[in-house]
Amino acid sequence: MSADADADVVVAGAGHNSLIAAAYLTRAGHRCRVLDARAVPGGGVASEELLLPGHRVDTCSTGHTLIQTNPLLARDELGLLADHGLEYIEPDPVGHVVFPDGESLTMWLDIERTCDEIARFSRADADSYRRLIAEYDAVKDVFARQRFTPIGFGPSFAEMIAVRPSRTSSPESAGSFSLSSPLSRAYLLSALVSADRKPDR
Ligand SMILES: Cc1cc2nc3c(=O)[nH]c(=O)nc-3n(C[C@H](O)[C@H](O)[C@H](O)COP(=O)(O)OP(=O)(O)OC[C@H]3O[C@@H](n4cnc5c(N)ncnc54)[C@H](O)[C@@H]3O)c2cc1C
Repeated sequence: MSADADADVVVAGAGHNSLIAAAYLTRAGHRCRVLDARAVPGGGVASEELLLPGHRVDTCSTGHTLIQTNPLLARDELGLLADHGLEYIEPDPVGHVVFPDGESLTMWLDIERTCDEIARFSRADADSYRRLIAEYDAVKDVFARQRFTPIGFGPSFAEMIAVRPSRTSSPESAGSFSLSSPLSRAYLLSALVSADRKPDR
């Protein structure tokens, strides 16, 4: 207890959520002590020499996509980008999926290059994917705003999306994307979790 006497707040765990909370509390003038069971801070969002000395890899989290729309980064509220040297590297290719039959699909930052890859399996699927991404790009800022608009503090998601001139808001567009190739479908799922669509900050 005496070791924490100089702290107003003791934070259990030094994962990125705890670290962010502690940083905001500190900025608000509270003295925080962050404790972790492990010697390495960051929890699942750390870089560690897990395989070979000198080679740091992500402990768990690799794609820091959704957090880009968080005011923490979108408004750089803690000065991570401006003052603390945080820099995001965008690898290109974004991802590479290998299938059990030896085939593979590579995902690039350039959507047309990715569509060329999908077209190796199905040109129709490449067209569907291009359309899906275009429709998502047209409304992705709504998803970002909704994520950081607590219920009762602004318009609902339905209200925000309703005023957008996008086919995404119409019920009939929901079934307009069809992917015939199992590989295209597997790729799309992979793309969604890898979230290669950089969100607007
Ligand atoms: C394999 C994998 C891949 C992932 N990939 C992504 C990704 O690409 N993109 C993405 O956004 N998210 C990804 N995630 C999710 C992301 O890692 C978590 O959402 C994130 O780590 C949660 O952060 P946190 O601070 O809440 O908890 P954690 O990161 O789990 O941190 C918890 C911390 O608390 C410590 N702790 C626990 N119990 C105690 C205790 N009793 N006393 C002291 N310390 C304690 C732990 O040691 C740890 O450091 C992935 C998760 C996994 C498992």
